Amino acid sequence: MQTPAAIDYAKATSVADAVAKLESLGEEARPVAGGYSLLPMMKLRLAFPSALVDVHDIPELQGVKVEGDELVVGAMTRHRDILDSAVLSEHYPIFREAEKVITDPIVRARGTIGGSLCQADPASDLSAVGSALKGTAVIEGRGGRRSVPLREFHEGPYETVVGPAELLVELRYPIRPGAGSAYEKVERRAGDWGVCTSGVYVVVSGGVVTECGIGLAAVNAPHYCSPGAEAALTGKAPTEENLLAAAAAAAEECEPSADQRGPVDYKRHLAQELTLRALRRAVAASQGV
Ligand SMILES: Cc1cc2nc3c(=O)[nH]c(=O)nc-3n(C[C@H](O)[C@H](O)[C@H](O)COP(=O)(O)OP(=O)(O)OC[C@H]3O[C@@H](n4cnc5c(N)ncnc54)[C@H](O)[C@@H]3O)c2cc1C
Repeated sequence: MQTPAAIDYAKATSVADAVAKLESLGEEARPVAGGYSLLPMMKLRLAFPSALVDVHDIPELQGVKVEGDELVVGAMTRHRDILDSAVLSEHYPIFREAEKVITDPIVRARGTIGGSLCQADPASDLSAVGSALKGTAVIEGRGGRRSVPLREFHEGPYETVVGPAELLVELRYPIRPGAGSAYEKVERRAGDWGVCTSGVYVVVSGGVVTECGIGLAAVNAPHYCSPGAEAALTGKAPTEENLLAAAAAAAEECEPSADQRGPVDYKRHLAQELTLRALRRAVAASQGV
């Protein structure tokens, strides 16, 4: 791998400072978080920022908290801290299950949730989790803050709605009492990007699925989610037959492409099988089994 080109670098001390620095350094300036995606892209000459504004250590962007009926995760919260968060595990074990299979402890110690979502890699595990949970991204720029549903946050591979001189500041996930959640991933070797992943939450009440969310990564599911599969299951009893029908709808709705990780049919098969497994476990958790 080559050395990145020489570049201006500034360390921000607050969100306001970061926004001001991004603005003054021009449209091609970019925030850098853990640097685990951006720096390799610069070394490979796939990204050419004119300057970097380091936002990794801004205190107000760190940590997980509960605010009313939402979980709030700061954009610079590291993978490791999400893995270890008791409050996230209590409400949504899907976070811990996904983090356990994201790369290795070295990357998890520095890589961040905000960097993962803004990188918008088609195989991003936390993007699938965020879409499954129907979370919200909070973005700050000179004009103030705006909220964007995570299902509208990604505009395509490596593209998001975050504009120049804007910063993703936090992620918000609704707390759903009684929800069960689970994450499934097939990777070629431990810590690798997924061949396919599926993450779900389900609320079962009165013998029916009252709500659910299904997120997929690495198989080109638009916005990392499967609304058709969710519609197929909502209002139905969580029988094996109905779970299978929803999983089949998820496989139908994604558009995987063939690459070194496998052919299209194999990836579709995984989308169905992993969604089925995740749904079974999430239903059991929601029913307290
Ligand atoms: C060997 C290896 C294996 C990996 N395997 C996986 C895997 O299996 N699954 C997985 O999901 N991920 C994987 N990753 C990626 C990892 O999750 C990184 O943490 C992630 O890619 C980027 O996080 P970062 O904090 O390093 O972001 P950076 O590299 O610093 O930034 C990434 C992008 O986001 C932008 N950005 C960062 N923060 C903000 C912000 N607050 N507002 C606006 N824009 C921002 C940057 O400008 C840049 O464009 C892997 C990485 C490596 C190196």
